[in-house]
Amino acid sequence: MAWFTKTRKPIAPTDKVSRVPEGLYIKCPGCSQLIYNKDLAVNLAVCPRCASHFKMSATERLAMLFDGDYVVHDADLVSTDPLEFHDTKPYRKRLDATIASTGMKDAVVTATGTIDGIQTVIAAMEYSFIGGSMGVVVGEKITRAIERAQDLRAPMVIVSCSGGARMMEGALSLMQMAKTSAALARLDRAGLPYISVLTDPTTGGVTASFAMLGDLNIAEPKALIGFAGPRVIEQTIRQKLPEGFQRSEFLLEHGMIDMIVDRRELKATIARALVFMGAKRAAGSDAPPAAGETA
Ligand SMILES: [Zn+2]
Repeated sequence: MAWFTKTRKPIAPTDKVSRVPEGLYIKCPGCSQLIYNKDLAVNLAVCPRCASHFKMSATERLAMLFDGDYVVHDADLVSTDPLEFHDTKPYRKRLDATIASTGMKDAVVTATGTIDGIQTVIAAMEYSFIGGSMGVVVGEKITRAIERAQDLRAPMVIVSCSGGARMMEGALSLMQMAKTSAALARLDRAGLPYISVLTDPTTGGVTASFAMLGDLNIAEPKALIGFAGPRVIEQTIRQKLPEGFQRSEFLLEHGMIDMIVDRRELKATIARALVFMGAKRAAGSDAPPAAGETA
């Protein structure tokens, strides 16, 4: 899996756990086992001992889900900083620094390729780009990707990994919730499937729009998924929250998501679901038929 080690770049630290640092070994936050980095790579960044899921970059995600080559769309869209926003530093400077450190122009990569021979459009979010936040560029790229899926009569898959709407773009970032949701409604009316994959973390305006609108909402194990954070909720309702609140397992139990799938089974599960929903493999595809599929 050369793509895995090759594409891993040093990225700004965002939290203490579930991150793969540079170096030969990494200590698993789940079981404290030292894992050889190459072992982690061949195991799709899942701990071989306790199955903790480490964060994956958007590029790694696309390489994992697509069969081989894929075509990336709208790679050059860049935010114009419409509000000329300043917080601790100018948003323009924050953008430039993040573009330089990640080599990406914004927090999502959209692409067309095949999943087990099924032509599919995938949007994968990148957490290392300002927390995977959704501003105008993310909203526009995802909307265009959905419209491209509709033009191609292909299914749509969005892999979310995001802290929510991007505050530095104010109301414009909130508008992306309506825009992406409207595009998904048109895809639905066109009779095309949409699968949402929720990874750790999926929160805020992303949860409140496209991440929860899948015909099938699939979460990775133990992912943090929610709208507001637990502290804000506790302060608002003045109650202690239950154990495991806002994690995949709790949400599955309470009907918020449809299934939890181990990353190592994710591609096969998506392919099976797409076939079940009527997606067709491209002619000449040599992918094996999924279980339950009639030729
Ligand atoms: Zn572990």
